[in-house]
Amino acid sequence: MSSSTSNTPTTDMDTTTSAQPSKSRINLLGMSQDKLGEFFKELGEKPFRVQQVMKWIHHEGVQNFDEMTNLSKVLRAKLNECAEVREPEVTLEKISKDGTRKWLVKVENGSCVETVFIPQGKRGTLCISSQVGCALDCSFCSTGKQGFSANLSTAEIVGQVRMAIRSLKETEPERQRAVSNVVFMGMGEPLLNFDNVVDAVSLIMDDLGYGISKRRVTVSTAGVVPALYKLAEVSDVSLAVSLHAPTDELRNELVPINRKYPIEQLMEACQHYLAGLGEHRAITIEYTLMDGINDKPEHACQLAELLKDLECKINLIPFNPFPGSGYKTVTDENLETFQRILYKKGCRIMVRTTRGEDIDAACGQLVGKFNDRTGRSARHQRRLEANKINVLPLKHEAPNSPVHSSERPS
Ligand code: SF4
Repeated sequence: MSSSTSNTPTTDMDTTTSAQPSKSRINLLGMSQDKLGEFFKELGEKPFRVQQVMKWIHHEGVQNFDEMTNLSKVLRAKLNECAEVREPEVTLEKISKDGTRKWLVKVENGSCVETVFIPQGKRGTLCISSQVGCALDCSFCSTGKQGFSANLSTAEIVGQVRMAIRSLKETEPERQRAVSNVVFMGMGEPLLNFDNVVDAVSLIMDDLGYGISKRRVTVSTAGVVPALYKLAEVSDVSLAVSLHAPTDELRNELVPINRKYPIEQLMEACQHYLAGLGEHRAITIEYTLMDGINDKPEHACQLAELLKDLECKINLIPFNPFPGSGYKTVTDENLETFQRILYKKGCRIMVRTTRGEDIDAACGQLVGKFNDRTGRSARHQRRLEANKINVLPLKHEAPNSPVHSSERPS
């Protein structure tokens, strides 16, 4: 059954949590220490203002400059005139019976993206979006079927983290450090929004930002090889690669960017990236299992052979169906066989448990609503109708809403 038709109990809350955008003011939320330093220099202020203001914004979650009590009145007045701290607006929140939360977040161009929080014991992983839609069109991904609309700004990416931390503090104050891990596995291909994602990663890891360690922040890519080399030059954030197939022939079908950057090139780029990470680090390989497509014993053998020289852990993800995908999830029996083969060949594996399925927050189910610049969304809907496939509404017909595969690795 498609998760969209599930009738398991969930909680929906219409909510609005941000100020209206102001075109004339500069949003300080997405500014790194360096950029904020330049900003204060232009205002004729001393460098220590950077620390003060960043702590207010990211540690204390303060939005109003008048509440930043260690700033002079003159500076507060200046900031009120020319600057603001603005998160993207939350238009809908859903809470799954398993505690997973999903927020529908409205961004600058009026579209919406999705942000998902998955509690796991003391740990909590936040899955954030980097683009409105995605241009890469992986065949098993509902986001890919929606087309592409826009890149998110650094403030819109970081704003998802700030919003989630604040929201969890308000509703679950007993949770200590609710967001322990952040993964860029929501909607979009992060490396195609390179500069904004890199700036957001630095802010999330910065002690004056959210102070989350590089081992707990993961950027996921479908394999944009040149950007992977570029990332290695500027960051040592953890990396996940959405592989999903062990051969070019199959991967060309499932992950079309493979036609441009085939597996051999991708593996070389992974080794290069890994070399810059230092000891005891590994890459996460994501592998979504679909019945009869990529779940056969020979695929497991090919996968083990392909990855034998790469320091990695393999994340096996049973496919989460969506309307018109044309795929079925792996059977329990095939999953077990696949796992056993990898295990015997010495691979490190994890199987991702589906979370938040009842609120369409599971891996590959995130969908937004936006003006698709590629026209793919309309073609997908026409195909569903032509094939008389039950056309379900886009997940959020009410306000606005977007999509990418997601985990939340350790
Ligand atoms: S799996 Fe990720 S890269 Fe592929 S279409 Fe979905 S969002 Fe884009």
